[in-house]
Amino acid sequence: MKQICVVGAGYVGLVTGVAFADLGNQVICLDIDEDKIETLNQGETPIYEPGLKEMLQRNVLAGRLIFTTSYAQALKDAEFVFIAVGTPSGADGEAELKYVRMAAESIAENMNHPLIIINKSTVPVGTGDWVANIIEKHQDEPIPFWVVSNPEFLREGSAIHDFMSPDRVVLGSLHPEAAERVASLHRPLRTIIQITDLRTAEMIKYASNAFLATRISFINEIATICEELGADVKEVAVGMGYDKRIGPHFLDAGIGFGGSCFPKDVRALEHMALIHGAHPQLLRAVLDINRHQRRQTIVKLRALLGGLDERKIGILGLAFKPNTDDMREAPAVDIAHQLLREGAVVQAYDPVAMAEAPHILPDVRLVDNAYEAAENVDALMVVTEWNEFRHLNMVRIKENMAGDVLIDGRNIYNPDRMTSLGFRYAGVGRSPKHGNGG
Ligand code: NAD
Repeated sequence: MKQICVVGAGYVGLVTGVAFADLGNQVICLDIDEDKIETLNQGETPIYEPGLKEMLQRNVLAGRLIFTTSYAQALKDAEFVFIAVGTPSGADGEAELKYVRMAAESIAENMNHPLIIINKSTVPVGTGDWVANIIEKHQDEPIPFWVVSNPEFLREGSAIHDFMSPDRVVLGSLHPEAAERVASLHRPLRTIIQITDLRTAEMIKYASNAFLATRISFINEIATICEELGADVKEVAVGMGYDKRIGPHFLDAGIGFGGSCFPKDVRALEHMALIHGAHPQLLRAVLDINRHQRRQTIVKLRALLGGLDERKIGILGLAFKPNTDDMREAPAVDIAHQLLREGAVVQAYDPVAMAEAPHILPDVRLVDNAYEAAENVDALMVVTEWNEFRHLNMVRIKENMAGDVLIDGRNIYNPDRMTSLGFRYAGVGRSPKHGNGG
């Protein structure tokens, strides 16, 4: 059993804390957000993540997991301190490090014994050294500490599973003994542990996310070409995926990527490259294609409806992807704003993001289910591929609608079937093979 403190109880920090407690460690999660800590102390989770609440309650009950806003309390017995605070995009696309700075300063001011400080936030290459400097400067008296980079690769929606069964754990440090001690925390996960230097570990995270984003933009560019040439991108992706050198993952054409990681991490890597004199032309194209996908959805809708002013549009799915309530940089947010700007009336439904949605989309009417989202609309758009949308009664959906336009932004329906039900269907990179409705 190790004593672990996790700073930042968001999607990454909370999952990390809960999972380490479940592995038998003594964990204290710290956040500066008092409401969040209050919610956690009541046994509730401030975010939606499958399996998280049950695991949290089990570990609180077992006395292995507590929550606090006090750095002094959190660091008192800690051997390991994970930093898992946000690193949002700054004005020029750079990763904003103010929360990491604040966390490092608070750790320095409150530590009273040697610590291993592990950075889990996604941070620009060189941040590990910078954190070490901050800590040195803010300590009242010199107390030894070691900085380790441990980038996180979990996905929202399957975060517990991803944490417990990772493809690999990456650890970077200039101090092999510190990295080895952090490795020992991860041994129960029975996975590959790659130990490297700080900067390389930090870069592995950016390169991984940029590569996944590139695959998505690649298939989206192929989708645009498929639309022009009459091929079906979904089948193209299947055929490509059989090739072991390519593999089937991250080849789903659609409205493009969103969320709190891919867009900001590609932007941050582009920014890092630019300020160091490199020319990140591929990364630029990846972001450009991603923006294009969102714009094209509106272009298709506008063309099918002959304009958007006073048109009523239903949106299915607001979260940036299924199985999460996270709406950060969600395509649905951009799309809804654009529809509203062009004079449309918008109603929307999401299975779990409905608590978050009113703050982000106050002018969108939120309804209780997918059938209500279709009620009296001229067009219905699928923006997030929640499983429940795959199994809707599309006859009933069509009957509820005033119009007949179906924009399938995630290619979850069969174009021919939708056309035969009377929809004018527009997917991404595919159209009905027998008579084109869209
Ligand atoms: P988040 O916004 O959900 O959580 C961050 C938490 O940190 C918030 O609760 C905030 O109140 C807290 N915080 C901010 N400053 C603090 C401070 N000084 N002291 C204590 N707490 C503080 O963010 P997230 O999605 O968990 O992301 C955290 C980091 O992990 C980011 O760098 C992100 O890029 C990276 N990451 C995220 C994911 C993901 O899927 N969300 C996956 C891999 C990596």
